Amino acid sequence: MAEEVKYKCMRCGNEYSAPYSKEPKERTCPRCKSNSVRQLKK
Ligand SMILES: [Zn+2]
Repeated sequence: MAEEVKYKCMRCGNEYSAPYSKEPKERTCPRCKSNSVRQLKK
């Protein structure tokens, strides 16, 4: 089972959760495509 991690975009303030992946390549905001995404909680 994939663990869900919360992310917040520092650009548009969009908060979303995505399944945790070992590779941090999916750290892109689905809304504005910014890569200024911060991980909130594990
Ligand atoms: Zn954004």
